[in-house]
Amino acid sequence: MEVNCRGCAGCCLDWRPLLEVGKEEPDDRRCARSSSRDDDGGNERAFSDRVPLGGSYNFVALARDEVRTVLERGSAAALTPRFWTVEDEREGVEIGDRHVAAVAGRPVFFVGLRKPPKPVAPFGREGPTWLPTCVFLDPTTLQCRVHGSDRFPDECGTYPEQTLALGAETECERVEARFGGDRLLERNHDDPDGLLFGPQALGAKLFCHPRPDELEGLLDRLERGEPSPTDRAKCIAVAAASSPGTVAVSEPHYERALERLEGDESGADDAWIGAAIGEWHRRRDRTRADEAVPDPELAAEIEDRRGAPETPGWE
Ligand code: SF4
Repeated sequence: MEVNCRGCAGCCLDWRPLLEVGKEEPDDRRCARSSSRDDDGGNERAFSDRVPLGGSYNFVALARDEVRTVLERGSAAALTPRFWTVEDEREGVEIGDRHVAAVAGRPVFFVGLRKPPKPVAPFGREGPTWLPTCVFLDPTTLQCRVHGSDRFPDECGTYPEQTLALGAETECERVEARFGGDRLLERNHDDPDGLLFGPQALGAKLFCHPRPDELEGLLDRLERGEPSPTDRAKCIAVAAASSPGTVAVSEPHYERALERLEGDESGADDAWIGAAIGEWHRRRDRTRADEAVPDPELAAEIEDRRGAPETPGWE
């Protein structure tokens, strides 16, 4: 599908903070933390009518085999879970004071990519803004660092076709409506082939947590946007140990995945990820309200120098 992505990356970052300042110019120094409640969640790739708990806007969810590949590459620091709360208690299980979406009494969740704050200037904006940005997006070129690699999510490769096939608005169209330009160069696509819906999503992309009793603290931290490395590791291990089409989780696979996640990944190809995410948060938190947002080229120091894959640039 033909799209014009140069200078955009609208589907790889959360640009809603640029709109949240009413009629005034956006305040480039703020960066909305990932909302635990996406008011316009209907525009998200998940098209869920549940209320997301954790994760980020436009959450890129990975399939089980993609989670396993990420684990093998030592890239698990890029991942985080997303659960949902439900209004109708018949659709969920009670955990603390929430009802969490569940199947067969087991809370369900996605595992997908984190969006740390990065200084970015999409859509031809002159100055950078701190925005929640995909861990794999190079803020300087606004290109994906893992495009064409085995870590490139299928969900990114099929965007926006599958959104069009579902008859929903794409991020490309939303960017066009707000900032002008032509992003979506083809508009007809009605083949939803490959979408994981219904029972076949279970254990393949929608994972079932086998131990709801252990989740209350984790869900509290997720809602605050502060899941611990252990919280993330336990959910990633459940995803890696899931069986497509079932709610089953293999305990030996779970233990092996957890062991790997808790091991030393400093020699892995993608060891840059965890350190870079931590550094982006520190830099954003240290930027005072009266200070300019740093140039996106700061990524050379924070990501490239730590070993992040380069992007080809647009020339
Ligand atoms: S993996 Fe690449 S294409 Fe997908 S959201 Fe992240 S930066 Fe964008």
